[in-house]
Amino acid sequence: MAMSISLEGKTAVITGSNSGIGLGIAWEMARAGANIVLNSFTDTEDDHALAAQIASETGVAARYIRADMSKGEDCRALISQAGSCDILINNAGIQHVAPIDQFPVEKWDAIIAINMSSSFHTMAAALPVMREAGWGRIVNIASAHGLRASPFKSAYIAAKHGVVGMTKSVALETAQEQITANAICPGYVLTPLVEAQIPNTMKEYNMSREDVVKNVLLTRQPSKEFATVEQLGATTVFLCSDMAAQITGTTISADGGWTAM
Ligand code: NAD
Repeated sequence: MAMSISLEGKTAVITGSNSGIGLGIAWEMARAGANIVLNSFTDTEDDHALAAQIASETGVAARYIRADMSKGEDCRALISQAGSCDILINNAGIQHVAPIDQFPVEKWDAIIAINMSSSFHTMAAALPVMREAGWGRIVNIASAHGLRASPFKSAYIAAKHGVVGMTKSVALETAQEQITANAICPGYVLTPLVEAQIPNTMKEYNMSREDVVKNVLLTRQPSKEFATVEQLGATTVFLCSDMAAQITGTTISADGGWTAM
């Protein structure tokens, strides 16, 4: 059978996709022909305009659905409102950095809910829809921090390790169906989430922006380069294609060599 990278006719639901990696993935999925459901917890004109722009520039159907990934019922409602969900990309995520004895409880709860439990709810809601269609792809955006730890990120590390484990479990549950579940583990990607960490780190270490990027952010990324949202989008498209039908229950690192160490 000829292998195809086309995702034409499939509908992809991408959580947390009005910015950063999620939006980058949405663009690459749309370029590969998938219809797109964008999501975040806001409901602004700009959110809906992003969907309209993707639709007009790529020719696919695209819409925006508001749902707060910190709430289980919203996660499940996102899937039912989407109507179809051949491809589910769990990408919504937040970060907070503090030593564990000073870690605000509400930040712990929010990170575990948005970065981990949301994937439980969306996958639980999406799997019956995929089974009905006889085909499905799940890609969870974990992190190098799903495979390695750093200090002061206890909630994020716990959530991302949890996502990697949950992905493997779901892959085993769907192993004999035309459904795969995998996680992508990016190193640092220059998105608003990372950009927001730069000014504080500059102050904290009294460093220039360039030094912060090279010697703090990318200190564990041997390539000394950020991964791009386009690269992550293309990796996601590959995992959703026919070529990746036997790739399931695993992680793909896009971390410039970080986890090789
Ligand atoms: P970002 O801040 O640009 O994007 C996060 C997205 O999640 C946004 O669209 C935001 O609106 C959405 N979001 C936040 N809270 C939400 C909620 N309650 N409900 C619905 N949506 C919500 O960040 P990003 O860097 O693009 O991160 C995307 C994912 O990639 C996250 O899971 C993050 O942990 C992961 N990641 C990022 C990097 C990196 O270096 N940027 C590295 C590894 C993993």
